[in-house]
Parts: sequence; C-alpha cells; structure tokens
Amino acid sequence: MSQDLTRKTASELAQLLATKEVSAVEVTKAHLDRIASVGDSVHSFLHHNNESALATAKQVDELRAAGEPLAELAGVPIAVKDNLTTTDAPTTAGSKMLEGWLPPYDATVVAKLRKAMLPILGKTNLDEFAMGSSTEFSAFGPSRNPWDLERIPGGSGGGSSSVVASFQAPLAIGSDTGGSIRFPAAVTGTVGIKPTYGAVSRYGLIALASSLDQIGPVTRNVLDAALLQDLIAGHDPHDSTSLPESLGSMADAARAGLQPGSLKGIKVGIIKQLTGAGFQAGVTTRFEESLKLMVEAGAELVEVDCPSFEYAIDAYYLILPAEASSNLAKFDSVRFGARTMPEGNPTIERVMAATREAGFGPEVKRRIILGTYALSSGSYDKFYGAALKVRTLIQRDFDAAFAKADVLVSPTAPTTAFKFGDKVADPLAMYLNDVATIPANLAGIPGISVPIGLAPEDNLPVGIQFLAPARQDAKLYHVGAALEGILENLWGKRMIDFANELKGI
Ligand code: GLN
Repeated sequence: MSQDLTRKTASELAQLLATKEVSAVEVTKAHLDRIASVGDSVHSFLHHNNESALATAKQVDELRAAGEPLAELAGVPIAVKDNLTTTDAPTTAGSKMLEGWLPPYDATVVAKLRKAMLPILGKTNLDEFAMGSSTEFSAFGPSRNPWDLERIPGGSGGGSSSVVASFQAPLAIGSDTGGSIRFPAAVTGTVGIKPTYGAVSRYGLIALASSLDQIGPVTRNVLDAALLQDLIAGHDPHDSTSLPESLGSMADAARAGLQPGSLKGIKVGIIKQLTGAGFQAGVTTRFEESLKLMVEAGAELVEVDCPSFEYAIDAYYLILPAEASSNLAKFDSVRFGARTMPEGNPTIERVMAATREAGFGPEVKRRIILGTYALSSGSYDKFYGAALKVRTLIQRDFDAAFAKADVLVSPTAPTTAFKFGDKVADPLAMYLNDVATIPANLAGIPGISVPIGLAPEDNLPVGIQFLAPARQDAKLYHVGAALEGILENLWGKRMIDFANELKGI
C-alpha cells in the first residue's frame, strides 16, 4: 500500500483522504519512505522537514476525524523550491551566500500551503539563485534525472521536477523566470506551468528578475497542476504586482478539457520560429504526433509567424542580468547570510568584496558583471534599451498570433535531457535550452509544459508547450488536459506508468 500511495496523483490522494480510506499520516509516511530509499541518488532536496510534515498530517487526520471542513488538498504532501522563504527551514536559493539562513517570514505561497494544511516535505534544489538549466550551478551539487541518473533534471527547478518524477512527492512548487518550471518538466516527463505574470504572489520569493519571475506548480498530471494553481493564486497586498482579479477555477477548466469533444473548434497556432531546425528529431516526432491527435479530436491548426522571437534569447540575457545585478546587490555581507573576512584591513568595501567573491558561484558572477555592464551609462541605450524594444516587439508578435489562434504551441525544449557536463562550460549552449520558454516570460503570458511521451532515439521524456494570452491560464488547463487524456487513451496507460519503469532508480 505504502508503495502504491506514492504512485497516486494528488487528486487521487485527496479523494482517498476525503473518504478516509487512508490517513494523511500514512500518505506522508509513504512519501518519507520513498525519500529515504531514493533521495540520495536523485538529490532533489536541500532540506528535509520530516517532523513538521508529519505534524501537519497528524493535524489533518485529527480535524477530519472531528468533522472539520478541510481544503481539497489537505494532507497531500508537497515540496517547495528553496528560493521561497520558510520560517521552519533554511532558505538558500542554492547559494553559499545564504547557507543556513533562516528567514523571519513565510512566502505567501508557503503560508497558503500551510493554511490549506499540505505537509511540506522539504526544500528542493535549484541552480544558484535560479540561474541555469541543469542544477549544475547549485552550490550544493546537482539533482539527477530519475529517467537516467547520468542526465540533468532540467533547471533551475531540477529539484522540484525530479522530486515529482521520482515519486518523492506528488506536488511541488517551482519558479519560472525564463523556463525554470517548464524546461525541467519537459525533460522529466512532468507537468509544469508558469501562470500569468502576477497571478501568484511573489512575496517571499528570492527575486531573480522581477519583471519576469513567476511561481507555479510542478505535478504529474494537468488536473493536479490546476488544483495547485487554484490554491496558490490570488491577489496579495504584500505583492504590488499581483493581479487584483481572480482568473477563475483552473480545476474546472482541466475537468472540462477531459470531456470528449473538448478540442472541437479550438484554434492552435504553431509558432513557425519554434519548430523544425534546431529541434532534436525525436522531439519533433512526438510533437507532430500530438498535433495530429489534436486535429483528429477537432482542433484546427494554423501557422503563426513571430519574427522577433529570433532575438528573444539575446533580449532576455540582457534584461535578466540587468535586473538580477540589482536584486543581488542586497547580498552585501551586512544584511543576509554569509560574511567572509578578507586578509588584512577589514574595511566595509573589502568585507563586501571578499563575501561576494566567496559567496557567489561562476554563473551568478557572470550575470552580475553582464547586467552591471548593460546598465552602465555608456551601454544603457545600446544594450538594455535595445533589449526593452525587442521585448515590446515580442509582445506585439504574440498579440498578432493570438488574433489568429486560441492557444499557441511548440515543443517545450529543443532536446531531451542532456548529460551532466555537456553544456556547463559553454554558457551560450546552456542558454539555448530556453529558446521556446523565454518569450512567455518577456510577454508576461502563461505557458504549460505537458509530457507527450518518450523520444524514440533515447527513450527520454518530451514535453509540448501551450501558450495563452495573459489572464487566460484556464485555456492552458483545458487544452493540456484534453491532450493528456487523448495520449493516455492512445498509450493505454498514463505517463506516470511509463515513469514507473524508470531506469535509474
Ligand atoms: N534557464 C534560464 C536561466 O538560466 C531560466 C531561469 C529561470 O527560469 N529561473 O535564466
């Protein structure tokens, strides 16, 4: 039974809990057992919270026994990316700079999880300050892809993707600035969504690039992601960028998508610039197969042209470092975390310099230097200003594309999971993984990655990405759930069942 519980989706667990077929303590213990058996080989967690997770589970059971009303996901365990503040566990953002730092407050998303009584199992690994695509830039060592332990689980949120893919938790929270939820989801066969900018409060998220960052769910199916977004979304007076209005029920949208005929008349725009050359053959095979299945189910395909996407990576890698260099200025040896004393006279400047030299890793330093340069008076217009213009052009490309289509589609990532070491020494090669995910962040629109099977050449997961206009996240859940349902019928099993045959563990 214990083993079975870790194979269930969150909605299935919620059902079993509601009908008292299992207790929250049993569910949490099953996941803690799984963590104990595979945790070391996958290395998804930076911190474990076993005791407080069990205490929450116990409380859920007591309240249920007393007939108290509970949130739908109460008692369903979850893991949280370690760039969200938690008062009962250190929050490091994958950096030596914050090693051992215990925040004085909970992030709004964490507070919502606590209020709904989801046992929080621990904090998941990430590239330092969420900069990267592989977790190889984590100061605490990489996480591994459960499909093949020699390969990356995606990044920056490789802890959250691997935790869900390896059945250590049915749910996880990620953050996505340029793809850090969707790319890891694609390469681990999980579902990841970046909601509309502002749909989920970022209060308590350690900021990377404030005009791009968004928090979202990582799960094993679309309905679970919808249930989790419904739980964490909503206006927050602590975050002035959070949207005032509700975007509706994502769970309703996902359930509607699972009904037969739900794709009839839906216009799906294939982004010309994000298909074909540059995409691994098996990724394209699975992508085209999914499109065909959607057409058979009544969807209509149109091609859309987004010429400015060609410059998306260039614009992103100016805007992101510019904002990051400013956001990371607060790590100054005085207010947070680490302090390194220099040799010789410890003036404030020399203490700051020694701390930042020792506390930050190579990718963070690279981006601080790049961002500071892009914002310097001689380069501001030439680099940062030009990048902002490209950002506007990308937004206009999206507007034109959405005039022709309800949702847009592309593969989530150009390749399946690559091997450790393949790209870490070549920043440009690493940055290219984000080619399909970055435009959504630059425009503030929502995007989802849904698994569409395994690439024939390497048997590794492939993801499809759907994009919708801002505030229309429900469309992604509708279309994503519809395709997921069609694929499950075709395979005669769920993606989760392929994952049961994981090679590595
Ligand atoms: N891989 C991207 C980067 O390195 C995405 C980061 C993110 O979304 N946090 O910037």
